[in-house]
Amino acid sequence: MSNLFSLEYAQQLDAQDPLSAIRQEFSIPKQSNGEEEIYLCGNSLGLQPKLAAQYVNDELQQWQKLGVKGHFSGDFPWMPYHEFLSDGFADLVGAKVKEVVSMNTLTANLHFMMVSFYRPTATRHKIIIEDHAFPSDHYAVESQIKYHGFDPTESMVLLKPREGEETLRTEDILSAIEEHGQSTALIMLPGVQYYTGQVLDMKIITEAGHAQGCNVGFDLAHAAGNIPMKLHEWNVDFAAWCTYKYLNSGPGSVAGCFVHERHHSNKDLPRFAGWWGHDKDSRFKMENHFIPMESAEAWQLSNPPILSLAAIRGSLDTIKKAGGIQKLREKSLKLTGYLRELLEQELSTEINILTPKDTAASGSQLSLTVNLHGADGKQIFDAIEAAGVTCDFRYPNVIRVAPVPQYNSFTDCYRFVMILKQAIEGAAS
Ligand SMILES: *Cc1c(COP(=O)(O)O)cnc(C)c1O
Repeated sequence: MSNLFSLEYAQQLDAQDPLSAIRQEFSIPKQSNGEEEIYLCGNSLGLQPKLAAQYVNDELQQWQKLGVKGHFSGDFPWMPYHEFLSDGFADLVGAKVKEVVSMNTLTANLHFMMVSFYRPTATRHKIIIEDHAFPSDHYAVESQIKYHGFDPTESMVLLKPREGEETLRTEDILSAIEEHGQSTALIMLPGVQYYTGQVLDMKIITEAGHAQGCNVGFDLAHAAGNIPMKLHEWNVDFAAWCTYKYLNSGPGSVAGCFVHERHHSNKDLPRFAGWWGHDKDSRFKMENHFIPMESAEAWQLSNPPILSLAAIRGSLDTIKKAGGIQKLREKSLKLTGYLRELLEQELSTEINILTPKDTAASGSQLSLTVNLHGADGKQIFDAIEAAGVTCDFRYPNVIRVAPVPQYNSFTDCYRFVMILKQAIEGAAS
């Protein structure tokens, strides 16, 4: 076998990769010299599938040609357009088709879900989240607690990694649930942590939360399209995810939402309603007597932005072409594993990897810190960016790198490590 750290070896891995052709389904941004970027930023904004552009264009054409009749005509009429996404979403998160819906945006969905699933009482009013939650999740939770007249300093439980550690231990999450469970109304955690790339054990957390009588919801912003899940089987109460990260559906694109079917027929569950959640058969009778659908669609408010849904449909069809999330996960394990191996071999003293090594606890992202006297992470980041790498930097000093199985190659990983090595050598000299 040739040297692991060689272009030939990376190219050999690409040649053996059954999914390598899927890259051609995407538009890859170019550097100013005309070469393709080494784009490792799919955890922030996924690249554009060619089908997304085509499907958005199809709907623009439909609107040109059909006007209002587009709601009911053509291959993909706008009235039920969101339903064309449900199969794809259900596969990604492991749900029944009626448990998923595309609507709103991620933070808006978290709020709408909390309207139904955060019902604090004097004795059970806490929400368990992580200390390093994504800011929007932290603000959403804090504002919900205040909205119900409670005090976030008493009602917000923040899970922290142990002193000197970067990621949460499952045993510590479980003991916090044990400790606060009886006073907790809701546990809301990420499926994949945005900063470290850690995958949480959603099944075990859900079981532990339910054993204490809590509702359990997940933010899947970094999990949807990244790792396979089984939300239905795990009995998760609700989940929400954006579609512009690993789901490649364009900036600010419409989000996804999951509500477990056992909640669908509960008429006592409060919710903020809109006409798109009303029973389809009588929606246009305009009788102003709300009859919720018995599906996740009951939480919809408005008729959705079709151009954005068209982009999502393009992305979901591209995932289908690749063979689905299981096939993508298989490649992701190889790709991320290869990147980790290169970093460990070439930069073992200069780079620290925060993301857990256990493959069950990591997806398509490695979060790196640079241990180098006289050079900070930002300096290194600027140098690799100038050399054609697109990844992202999170203060204080983490470089996040996401080799995405849909469009990244083993050669991308090799080139990235070579450029990073040069940047670090340059900063050290
Ligand atoms: C990306 C991300 C968001 C973004 O929220 P929007 O409402 O889509 O702007 C929120 N939470 C997490 C955990 C994220 O990773």
